[in-house]
Amino acid sequence: MANTLFDALFAKHADNTGLFIDDPIDNQSVTYKAFIEQTGRLANAITAAGLKPGDRLVAQVGKSVNALALYGACVRAGVVYLPLNTAYTDAEVDYFVSDCSASFLVCDPNDADRLNAVADKASAMLMTQSRDGNRGTLPDAAQAESTEFDTVNRSVDDLCALLYTSGTTGRSKGAMLTHGNLLSNTFALTELWEFTKDDILLHALPIFHTHGLFVATNIALLSSARLIFEPKFDLDRIIERLPHATCMMGVPTFYTRLLADVRLDKSLVGNMRLFVSGSAPLLAETHRQFESVTGHTILERYGMTETNMNTSNPYKGDRIAGTVGLPLNGIDLKITDPNTGTTLPNGEIGVIEVRGPNVFKGYWKMPEKTAEELRADGFFITGDLGTIDEHGYVSIVGRNKDLIITGGYNVYPKEIEQVLDDQPGVLESAVIGVPHADFGETVVGILVADGPTMDLEHIKTSVEQSLARFKHPNQLLVVEELPRNTMGKVLKNVLRDRYADLFSDKDS
Ligand code: AMP
Repeated sequence: MANTLFDALFAKHADNTGLFIDDPIDNQSVTYKAFIEQTGRLANAITAAGLKPGDRLVAQVGKSVNALALYGACVRAGVVYLPLNTAYTDAEVDYFVSDCSASFLVCDPNDADRLNAVADKASAMLMTQSRDGNRGTLPDAAQAESTEFDTVNRSVDDLCALLYTSGTTGRSKGAMLTHGNLLSNTFALTELWEFTKDDILLHALPIFHTHGLFVATNIALLSSARLIFEPKFDLDRIIERLPHATCMMGVPTFYTRLLADVRLDKSLVGNMRLFVSGSAPLLAETHRQFESVTGHTILERYGMTETNMNTSNPYKGDRIAGTVGLPLNGIDLKITDPNTGTTLPNGEIGVIEVRGPNVFKGYWKMPEKTAEELRADGFFITGDLGTIDEHGYVSIVGRNKDLIITGGYNVYPKEIEQVLDDQPGVLESAVIGVPHADFGETVVGILVADGPTMDLEHIKTSVEQSLARFKHPNQLLVVEELPRNTMGKVLKNVLRDRYADLFSDKDS
């Protein structure tokens, strides 16, 4: 029997009495052995309920050790795991369950009455699991099962998980990830970031997304590291636990929130060896401030649901602020012309394309979409715009769809955002294009103030001095905060919708 992912990450811990999860404050811990036994019980429970290899299990459950064990159980039983954001509404869950023809839905007991109809419609079985993972029909059924389970054969090309993209434009698409995709990326990152069994990873990311589920968890499993497993990023709890950890993986907002707290200093992070950031752009300013306050340079990496991780700043070597580093071992990355697909020379802005064992198999039941984005030679067209510098470092300048074309000129929002972010009194900014009768689109800058000192006239003058005229925002707006998704990404589509009519009755 061979199961690519289970053998490499889970099976080797069957007799490991070392700790997998350990909270240094509450003294709650789970050994690797107990965790693997739970994957056995759950694998028995879901197969007893009728799940067969290749079937899809949708889990909209809280972040708990049992939720991680459910992921392991699916890998073990050859079942395709589909974790969902807990914020999704019933209608959204309905879409995912029916789109992937799920056979099984696991939800919170409080949602069961409502989601029963969704499960019924899809002829899927519904079981429950409470937020802490301990109560519900699924943990109860697992409790009665044996810890022994005959692990199902799965090879590199077999489907392991279906992760739906956040779907900011059009329908959310199910990215088909194989055992080989996940394992190759885990090996590359574990080696590059030098994870060992002595590491204690502060895990505060959600586990329905590639960052917290695959990057963080799989690396810990491969390296036999320990997790401090937090339900979410709670500033006080994180500050309390940082002295006990050796590394943390976060989204940029983790770092800005830490920086806003006076308790962050060198002594608090004296035990740490690595801070990783990704899933959304880390401001160069945050990178610099974090270094000056803690002495640590945040390591920024770049990835996406469809590809796992693509690039990373080096562990040893220069971690350059504002860049996402170099392609990972075994991954080819190029910048191409969005219109012709030809490779562009270093220094030019174009679409980032990647190829390697990390790249997904395609979108679930969307062969046309897959063909549009996945070339026959294996390169995936990421939709991110970026450049490569003379040392091979990749920088992201935004999403292709966020590109603004005004009066025939291409405007990259990031270039303007950088100028706006540098202005006194500005905390952060987002630049979008909105419809305009003369120019097709025109540039709008949306600012969040950092206290009462922001001076819009001064900002306009500075922008005029630093950027070509066609890049000047036609209007600057001030908002309390920018709309973001759970991973900290600014939702530019929401801003574009909100300001779509800004110039509809103006002729300027
Ligand atoms: P998701 O599929 O939700 O993980 O989103 C992937 C997208 O997040 C990428 O295509 C990028 O647009 C963005 N992203 C991920 N990491 C970074 C990063 N380090 N800097 C800028 N954008 C990033």
